[in-house]
Amino acid sequence: MKYYGDYHTHSRYSDGREPVERIAEAARRHGLSEVAVTDHGPRLLVLGVDGLHCYERLIQEIKDLNIPGVRVLAGAEANILDLEGRLDIPPQLYEELDVLICGLHPYTVPGNIRDGCRLFGSNHLRHLGPGWRRKAVEANTRATVAALENNPVDVLAHPGLFFEVDISEVARVCVRREVLFEINCGHRHPPPEDVEIAFKAGVRFIINSDAHYYDTVGELDYGSYLIEKLGIPTERIANCRFGGDERWKGKRKQ
Ligand SMILES: [Zn+2]
Ligand SMILES: [Zn+2]
Repeated sequence: MKYYGDYHTHSRYSDGREPVERIAEAARRHGLSEVAVTDHGPRLLVLGVDGLHCYERLIQEIKDLNIPGVRVLAGAEANILDLEGRLDIPPQLYEELDVLICGLHPYTVPGNIRDGCRLFGSNHLRHLGPGWRRKAVEANTRATVAALENNPVDVLAHPGLFFEVDISEVARVCVRREVLFEINCGHRHPPPEDVEIAFKAGVRFIINSDAHYYDTVGELDYGSYLIEKLGIPTERIANCRFGGDERWKGKRKQ
């Protein structure tokens, strides 16, 4: 399977190990013509960017970069903060970014204490029994759906990872809101059964590395394995070289 881009990587601005230039070089080495640097939003404890000013620096650094043959995009992996789907990236910053990813992450500082208990607290307790698990899935699904409804999100990161969701419902919202459903190769997630549910719901997928190191940028083998295993046509993959009719563009670039 040939891909032209990897749209989910992390640099030193958050918890990645590489500067932006090395990510671009790694993408070129993999034969990619585009790569997005999508550092974690600031409310992710320890792992997120030190502040929103980091995105301004990222954008400037990308402008100054000159790696022939590779276009580098500035993005963010925003954290979903509460049941209303608020993100830790403010709307005025969306306009400056090429790609907006969002997802639920452990160690996120919640938007408020009540939602913190319902969203992050119930996930901690989900192993205690089916009642707790059901509460966790309901809260996770509600927060994810609200995030997709209320923000111009391009990609839903690793649906269901760390935080179990109702995949059918989330997939339906992805279709309606034209949000790409991510197959995350770094985490080898979602599992085939969830990808099949999303495929049947009609989503478009994007296959990303979630790379934090030079060696894993453009490492998209798990996606290729799923495409073959489940017989997903390449038109349904946004970043396949021989897939869609044209190169995928984030919502802000149209
Ligand atoms: Zn993530
Ligand atoms: Zn990530």
